[in-house]
Amino acid sequence: MGTADELFAAQTCGWDQASPASHAPGSRPATARSVSRRQVLSGIGILSAAAVLTACTAPRSPATGTGAPASAAGAPSANPSVSPAQLGSVVTGIDEIQVWQEEFYKDLHRHPDLWGEEARTAQKVTAKLQEIGADEILQIGGGVVGIIRNGDGQRVLFRADMDALPVTEATGLEYSSSEPGKAHVCGHDAHVASALGAAALLARNKSEWSGTYLALFQPGEETGKGAQAMVDDGLVAKLAAVKPDVCLAQHVLTVPESGNVATRSGAVLSAGDRSR
Ligand SMILES: [Zn+2]
Repeated sequence: MGTADELFAAQTCGWDQASPASHAPGSRPATARSVSRRQVLSGIGILSAAAVLTACTAPRSPATGTGAPASAAGAPSANPSVSPAQLGSVVTGIDEIQVWQEEFYKDLHRHPDLWGEEARTAQKVTAKLQEIGADEILQIGGGVVGIIRNGDGQRVLFRADMDALPVTEATGLEYSSSEPGKAHVCGHDAHVASALGAAALLARNKSEWSGTYLALFQPGEETGKGAQAMVDDGLVAKLAAVKPDVCLAQHVLTVPESGNVATRSGAVLSAGDRSR
């Protein structure tokens, strides 16, 4: 999704649940006015980890082991009411992660890559996945998949899109886009930083969960061609040994109110409509 019209169309989707974003210990509670960008990244990162953990701790259904897709009703789902306290030590190190996470986000924001040109972003993601300690990193169709193996359990795929939009940023932010005609105005820079933050939390706190985490970074979301490019490059075959039981995705939005995270099972934000 990208344009304001498409965003508006997406807002007509009904959310199943919404809850305040989780926060690092000691941070202020989020409100529409006080929530900071770091808190948003932290909140999404923690919620991402919570979603993954919730999925990982659920028993694998027999059907998922036989190649049949997990049904929406039978698949474990994210629990948005999980708090940092309930997450326990899986959030150990979040303060340290927040520091590089924000810098990573700002770097992507300064250097946006349009669809089909995500080489720099993919390289940055790959380097961070190596630093995090991903067990395997695959380059597929212009995208990147980092795999963190941690014994038996659910295989959970978490997807972030990487591409920017062909617009010129005029926000005046100190980390504004350095390139006229290119800007991260759809939040994909936040998505990448959030997914990497969740990966880092899970990689360093393996004693708190079991299963497999697949962090998938997709090119070309705005055109719909990036997902196809990954499929055409053998995504399904290359992940056959770690076929996900659950797939999760994320998107920043103007709804619900700032500082909240909403979840919905099934397809969401999967199409864009325009009204004139
Ligand atoms: Zn988007």
